[in-house]
Amino acid sequence: MDTSSATLERSIAAVRPEALYAERIDLLQVNLGRRCNSSCTHCHQSCSPSCTEAMDEPTLDAVSRIAREVRPALVDITGGSPELHPGLPTLVSRLRSAGLRTQVRTNLTALLEPDAEGVIDHLAVAGVQLLASVPALTAERYASQRGDHLQAALTVLRRLNDAGWARSGDLLLDLAVDSSGYGEQCPAREIAARYRTVLTDKLGIDFNQMVLMTTMPIGRFRTALERRGEYESYVAGLVGRFNPGTVMNLACRTAIEIAWDGTLSDCDFNLAAGLRTAEGEPAHISEFDPQRLARRRIRFAQHCWACTAGEGSG
Ligand code: SF4
Ligand code: SF4
Repeated sequence: MDTSSATLERSIAAVRPEALYAERIDLLQVNLGRRCNSSCTHCHQSCSPSCTEAMDEPTLDAVSRIAREVRPALVDITGGSPELHPGLPTLVSRLRSAGLRTQVRTNLTALLEPDAEGVIDHLAVAGVQLLASVPALTAERYASQRGDHLQAALTVLRRLNDAGWARSGDLLLDLAVDSSGYGEQCPAREIAARYRTVLTDKLGIDFNQMVLMTTMPIGRFRTALERRGEYESYVAGLVGRFNPGTVMNLACRTAIEIAWDGTLSDCDFNLAAGLRTAEGEPAHISEFDPQRLARRRIRFAQHCWACTAGEGSG
């Protein structure tokens, strides 16, 4: 089976040639760095407590300026654990005081770290929505990906509910769930129903939406697949599930990502794969051009098959 990115581009172009290009910037994603309190087996950024990449102050200032200029529908802050970056409170305050909808991605347990002291209260006052990653609902499966911390994650979810998330209008709490382990045939609504039953009905934990993601064959997850000799078959499985209905909705078509070092990528997965924007497009915040970036050519790679498989991802 041909799993190359060239074949993916031809497949996309055969559906809608314009899907090879961005169409606007609705989402400004900002990656504050690779430091994380966890070292998950599926992490596409290969993050860990020992990672040192972190956005510096001039770049944080530039992010605020660019966000005010672009005025995207959402500024989405990720990492690593963005909660552990000392610049997070100032950044979200600036974004929110400019009236920009802002989301912080969290693995939940990072919010219990000493370096995140006060962050929950600050995010609540600022009115920041959260996208919390909950990779599994059983202690065994959770531990196999993220260590023995399911109960700690549930404790944080309860604290977030108590602070108003998922229980008051502005404070949205969405869950990010990776679909690996549920099987190809398990539809998103079925996985969402399981989370609703376990978290809300049994444990009394509220959340708003569930975002289902396909695990990207890059970073630590790719290394694990390769070690088991399963990389080619995993990608072939994604190719076999190519869904023409996904191509106009690829996340990169309405987004741009700023990395900790100020470089620009089409999405966090391309950043993790070491891919900046396509040749000839603005590649750094110093040359940020909203009009050009909103119409840029997307840089596709082999992992992008994960975004065109099944119900899509990204
Ligand atoms: S998947 Fe998320 S929580 Fe796990 S190591 Fe990566 S950034 Fe950290
Ligand atoms: S991995 Fe990124 S660049 Fe590739 S299709 Fe998905 S969102 Fe677009």
